Amino acid sequence: STKFIATPSRTKEILKKYSFAFKKSLGQNFIIDPNILENILKHAGVDKSAGVIEIGPGIGALTEQLAIHADKVVAFEIDQRLLPILQDTLQNYSNIEVLHQDILKADVHQVIKEQFEENQPIHIVANLPYYITTPILMKLLRDRLPLESITVMIQKEVAERMAAKPNTKSYGSLTIAIQYYTNAKVVMNVPKTVFNPQPNVESSILKLELRDEPAVLVKDEDFFFGVMKASFAQRRKTLRNNLANHLQEMDKETLQKVLDRVEIDGGRRGESLTIEEFARLADGLYEEIN
Ligand code: SAM
Repeated sequence: STKFIATPSRTKEILKKYSFAFKKSLGQNFIIDPNILENILKHAGVDKSAGVIEIGPGIGALTEQLAIHADKVVAFEIDQRLLPILQDTLQNYSNIEVLHQDILKADVHQVIKEQFEENQPIHIVANLPYYITTPILMKLLRDRLPLESITVMIQKEVAERMAAKPNTKSYGSLTIAIQYYTNAKVVMNVPKTVFNPQPNVESSILKLELRDEPAVLVKDEDFFFGVMKASFAQRRKTLRNNLANHLQEMDKETLQKVLDRVEIDGGRRGESLTIEEFARLADGLYEEIN
């Protein structure tokens, strides 16, 4: 048939042909709604000049649409059983490369060098396996890949945390870790009904635009992340108490002196600090210690 893979009938046909049994442990929830893919594509900003990296093509529902709209698609799939299926379902597209690799172990820099043109704009677009959403995104960001954007379908709550604003329940260390590298936005909420099988959680499409430089320039990145995480360690405690716990070798007077110097009230909670305030605080503490 000429129908797209992401239709209930075509997906059913493919699963039946290969007697495919979903592996829950691999986060296999396949998209069966072409409208959702259209929305993902629209927000991803992919055009015919773009190189796209997909993580987890499944039976190729999103891969097919990416191949139609982009110059080239490289897809990482961990499940060996899906490789012959993808060979079949994507046979009409000559601009797709499927790599049988665990994305968490992959050398993505090397893959980009081998698979795309020099200076080609590269985007990541994926319906991620939900059990490893955060490790995947943090790996891709820490690797400092030459990417324009990352557009992913993930669990709604996680998307909200990544795109959160200060003084909200969702705001925390994950927010800062993501927003250090990117401008994050939830672009759309997605009902469970667009998947087969349906996941237990609600989903959202998250768009991350990569920054040319980190959101803040700090004296020591690891120290900054350490201070920031410690500030959220016990959410109901004050900044002063969380920091005193984290910096056991610093006495209370010195800590207060630094807080005064950087003009941040130690009675505040971590969740009220902006990323710029965390940077100022971390740099002040770092200078005092080093
Ligand atoms: N893109 C397809 C779709 O939207 O219909 C499938 C998405 S499904 C949520 C996640 C996919 O990621 C599955 O195909 C699964 O086998 C694959 N996967 C799980 N862990 C992976 C890993 N560590 N590396 C690469 N792919 C992985």
